Amino acid sequence: MSIEEMAEGARSRGYEYFAITDHSRRVTVAGGLDVKEVRKQIEHIQSLNEKYDDLTLLKGIEVDILEDGTLDLPDEILKELDLCVCAVHYNFNLTRKKQTERILRAMDNRYFTILAHPTGRIIGERDPYDLDMEKVLEAAREHRSYIELNAHPKRLDIADYHCKQAKDMGVKVAISSDSHTTGHLNNMKYGIGQARRGWLEKDDVLNTLPVDDLVKVLKKKR
Ligand SMILES: [Zn+2]
Repeated sequence: MSIEEMAEGARSRGYEYFAITDHSRRVTVAGGLDVKEVRKQIEHIQSLNEKYDDLTLLKGIEVDILEDGTLDLPDEILKELDLCVCAVHYNFNLTRKKQTERILRAMDNRYFTILAHPTGRIIGERDPYDLDMEKVLEAAREHRSYIELNAHPKRLDIADYHCKQAKDMGVKVAISSDSHTTGHLNNMKYGIGQARRGWLEKDDVLNTLPVDDLVKVLKKKR
């Protein structure tokens, strides 16, 4: 779907803001964007933001965490964005130590904002990859980054007990609908249900912030 269609879907559900986070180039099956395409999309979003007076589109990317922990796009383009959602999409079978180090290295990048679908599980299809969640949460706290709770009913990733662990360790969770169509926006309720089951309250969730506060927090993180 086009950005305009997604924006309309968000607006009709009463959203004040909505982050556009297409995949980066490595994820070829999803038509991942390269540097040039991201730059074009940034301009497109800026022009749309000038048109809307009741919705802010945030400029983002879902950038792939490569096997060595570097990110799939260079800093010079990541810094142009409001947020970088970072995720593992390949090489799920690393040892616990290697997988954890990979993610910690990615989190060292100052433009890293949110770790998406942190365990990679697809319910009934793929087990979570082996990861030291405590170390990841410690790093998130240290770098002031965030952990996604992916609301897609096949993911619900992180699990409820990881929500509680994040809360206890002082790490905020971002609840994401992982929408590829406007219909997926309706999945948000599953994420909120999962967050509640994991004892999260409003203040534990990044995207309960109003847009001005959110933008400030994201800038400060860098
Ligand atoms: Zn993803």
